[in-house]
Amino acid sequence: MNPNLVSIVPCADYAPETCVSALTAVLEPLGGLDWVKPGMKIVIKANLVAGAKPDRAVTTHPALLAALTRLLKARGASVTIGDSPGNLFNASVLNRVYAVSGLAQAEAAGAVLNRDFSEKDAYAPDAVQAKRFTYTGWLNSCDAIINFCKLKSHGMMSLSAAAKNMFGTIPGTMKPEYHYRFPNPNDFADMIVDLDEYWKPVLHLCDAVTAMEGNGPTQGTPKHVGCLMASKNPHCLDVLAATVIGLKPMEVPTIAAANRRGLAPETVDGLTVSGDWKPFLQTDFELIRNRNSILFVGGNNVFSRTVRGVMNACLQSKPKVKTRACIGCGKCRDICPAHTIAIANKKAVIDRKNCIKCFCCQKFCPVGAMRVHRSPVAKLLTHGRSKQS
Ligand code: SF4
Ligand code: SF4
Repeated sequence: MNPNLVSIVPCADYAPETCVSALTAVLEPLGGLDWVKPGMKIVIKANLVAGAKPDRAVTTHPALLAALTRLLKARGASVTIGDSPGNLFNASVLNRVYAVSGLAQAEAAGAVLNRDFSEKDAYAPDAVQAKRFTYTGWLNSCDAIINFCKLKSHGMMSLSAAAKNMFGTIPGTMKPEYHYRFPNPNDFADMIVDLDEYWKPVLHLCDAVTAMEGNGPTQGTPKHVGCLMASKNPHCLDVLAATVIGLKPMEVPTIAAANRRGLAPETVDGLTVSGDWKPFLQTDFELIRNRNSILFVGGNNVFSRTVRGVMNACLQSKPKVKTRACIGCGKCRDICPAHTIAIANKKAVIDRKNCIKCFCCQKFCPVGAMRVHRSPVAKLLTHGRSKQS
């Protein structure tokens, strides 16, 4: 099979019958589910980054998870669905996430919701960045992993789709540590690609029926795109997903990292796409255009380092508190891996000199008060459509 094959089909809504027929259609060019044999244990790694009602477009929609469960169960497989949200990886957090995110729908279709909260250590000698890492142990007890992501904008990586979804294999409260270990976004992206390579899900699916634009991946705005995408290659799926929402694929650090390893083409022209993607092309999708695409790299002598420091200071996006919206809950302070946020007068205050621009604070602010602020110079250079500043 062509390794760059990506399939895309219309999926107008989350009605159960629409989901089953769209899933069947999107999988068909990839050989369907013929690889699923009776008795197989299949894990669906969903995007359950936070407990949020399905119509907020934060999580993989439960109707699609239920439809996929039905298709897999019809072939005699057992199905476990799970993820590690950005919080404690334990029963009380996950039970709440499952309940709020509507996972009862998938449970009713025959899926088991993961309740193995063990953590394990991995050694990946061929990895570029993540040679040793800790992961959520539930992923061990299966014959195959299906990665079912949600199409969203993302503060740090610009795009949250197939590749980024596998960061959810790191236990929740450890995720900020990984941001601290890999403060350079290109290294962070390489770490994500390492995780993708380590787990090698047999299949990647993307819920782009209702995507999230703007302040993603948790506080953005739902946006109807109306399609499903599938591929055996997460980076190729992401090239198409990025193109659909109006991002240049190589602006996405994970795609650029995959491209450096020969795992993804630079543009959609390097893909074999089954289905017509142009009807889904978004011309007004509110992006968070990543600053790294315009970062000044240069050499390593004193002059280059000085110019690089000045240029990057001018170009880099920064987290910024929308003071009126901040409720002083302290979640950003608690999650900040650089410990650079304090709460003063019931408002978050960032000490910028230690900020590593990981945007964990933006990702987990429950009211969307933490925003990605792009410098005027960066806006001028990229003519981005971001309204995030
Ligand atoms: S998480 Fe959001 S609302 Fe809570 S203190 Fe931080 S900025 Fe304010
Ligand atoms: S202030 Fe926000 S972006 Fe900066 S290090 Fe802390 S969590 Fe990351």
